Amino acid sequence: MRHLLSVEDLDRAAIERILDRAKSFTEVSEREIKKVPALRGRRVLNLFYEASTRTRSSFELAAKSLSADVINFAAGGSSVEKGESLKDTVQTLSAYQPDLIVIRTPHVGAAQLVANWTTASVVNAGDGKHEHPTQALLDVYTLRERLGDIDGKSIWIVGDVTHSRVARSNIHAFQKMGAHVTLCGPPTLIPRDVTALGCDVAYTLDGLGEADVVYALRMQKERMTDSFVPSIREYAAQYQIDGRRLGARQVLMHPGPVNRGVELAAEVIDSPQAVIGQQVAAGVVVRMAVL
Ligand code: ASP
Repeated sequence: MRHLLSVEDLDRAAIERILDRAKSFTEVSEREIKKVPALRGRRVLNLFYEASTRTRSSFELAAKSLSADVINFAAGGSSVEKGESLKDTVQTLSAYQPDLIVIRTPHVGAAQLVANWTTASVVNAGDGKHEHPTQALLDVYTLRERLGDIDGKSIWIVGDVTHSRVARSNIHAFQKMGAHVTLCGPPTLIPRDVTALGCDVAYTLDGLGEADVVYALRMQKERMTDSFVPSIREYAAQYQIDGRRLGARQVLMHPGPVNRGVELAAEVIDSPQAVIGQQVAAGVVVRMAVL
């Protein structure tokens, strides 16, 4: 497989292979010299057209830990501001002969387009509301570490599913790993066609007690053209995960960035049920495995 564009392209065995490889890299992170020569002499181009904290820094760290040479390109401060198109930018930067391009853009399908324009391998680091495959992989990795296995587990994804690429990738990944997925949120934020994916849908948190894992999503305001909820306060009253709603045996996940006091109450963010920090840490080893 040359590119990683979508979780849909992976089967369970491929996911497990990546996660096993990731696990073998944890030992590198514990060394004094946190580097292996696997990608020595290879060039990795990080192309980010959208804001990122975790994904961008962990891809950079992953590539450097594998001894690759890394070019970080952010659209702000580049000739994109002067009107250079994605295609021209990719073709220009291809003159540096990257072996691998990591790309994030606000446009659905952009990673696939880039894969058509370059001879480098392409990793999708988020294309609009379509997919974010490495997030799904690091989430499955984190759950395997916490629960051992997610076969037969019930996972509730709560919040703005409509605008979330994380939801789309994670639904595929969780199901491929044998979990049962329930999507929960206001009807305006749950796409109508999701039941075709084999998920259950809930419009209230009443049944949340049956979940082994609660996966909260951020309200993706940057992708909203309309108002989808009456107010953030009302949304939080109905869908916020707080200490009252989260059970002691449940695992709490969030891809970040968290809007404290909206989808999550402060008390659950730092609770023992939360694995949000573990998700961030897993980002490095999982992205090393992908690279
Ligand atoms: N960081 C994730 C993403 O890039 C989730 C989010 O932004 O809410 O999709």
